[in-house]
Amino acid sequence: MSDASLSSRASDFIEPSDTSVATPKVLWAELYPAEFIVRQQQCPLVYMPLGLCEPHGQISAFGLDTFKAEYLCTRVARQAGGIVAPSMAYHVHESGPSAKFLEDMVGENNPYMSSVPPYMFYHFFLYQLRSFYNAGFQSALILSGHGGAHIHDLRKISRMFTERFGMNVWYGTDFDLVEGTYAGDHAGKYEISMLMFIRPDLVDPTRKPLEDMAGSGGRLAAGHDADQASRLYGEQISQACEAALTGIVAQLIGQSNVNSGVELLSYGAIEALWADIVRSAEDGSEMWTALQPRDGQVPVSAHSRWKPNEYVRMA
Ligand SMILES: [Zn+2]
Repeated sequence: MSDASLSSRASDFIEPSDTSVATPKVLWAELYPAEFIVRQQQCPLVYMPLGLCEPHGQISAFGLDTFKAEYLCTRVARQAGGIVAPSMAYHVHESGPSAKFLEDMVGENNPYMSSVPPYMFYHFFLYQLRSFYNAGFQSALILSGHGGAHIHDLRKISRMFTERFGMNVWYGTDFDLVEGTYAGDHAGKYEISMLMFIRPDLVDPTRKPLEDMAGSGGRLAAGHDADQASRLYGEQISQACEAALTGIVAQLIGQSNVNSGVELLSYGAIEALWADIVRSAEDGSEMWTALQPRDGQVPVSAHSRWKPNEYVRMA
């Protein structure tokens, strides 16, 4: 399948029969061992898409963030090489600065959200990186379709992993990829346009809030300019993201690396790094941003469903 026909059918990446027959397979889950080894030798880089289910207004499906990350990783892997690991579609939200965001944007409605505590996500993230290291990858590109206060924490954890074990790790969001060119948002013109391009079947602008969802949560976190979204704008953002991501892949491949694929990381090695992360959160020497509100942020209302996780611990 030519590149031109790929871009004309943006949702091909979810059709396994298409990818296995007409294009080189890039999903780890779809590769035979011999195919995996060849692909990895050609490009020892793994991608992991991150997202979650969270409300993006009444007009959009919950998985928007995950679909963005999966689409971009798969597209770039086809062109630049590398293997796409299984997605992580549970993510950090609710806690610290997100608690007030959700009170404001969703209110007391059920958000129908696949969020997990920062300490679970961060700890497990180290084991995901370990699995990439032990599978012999020299670089990991972690692309998240979901932003928030945890971005700072994940950057730092990625950097600490690289410093300790030598595997190159890049972590960032699609918003980072086009910073200065396209303004990211939550369920506004940017994100809804992206989904209109990537999965047009999952956006329906005619949908209205249900009766029992009246109030501030009736919009379920929709951005105020969501009605300006278009498929064309989404395609432009996607192309800019792809170009930036391809540049990052080239950079990662060019960097030196110590992972021979022979020395395996043990559970103990990961637990020692995790203990350092926890210790630095508890002695106050490091600021972990998803654990408490931002300086000066308005407190969550006392009886809000979001109050309990306004302050959380690392472990
Ligand atoms: Zn989103």
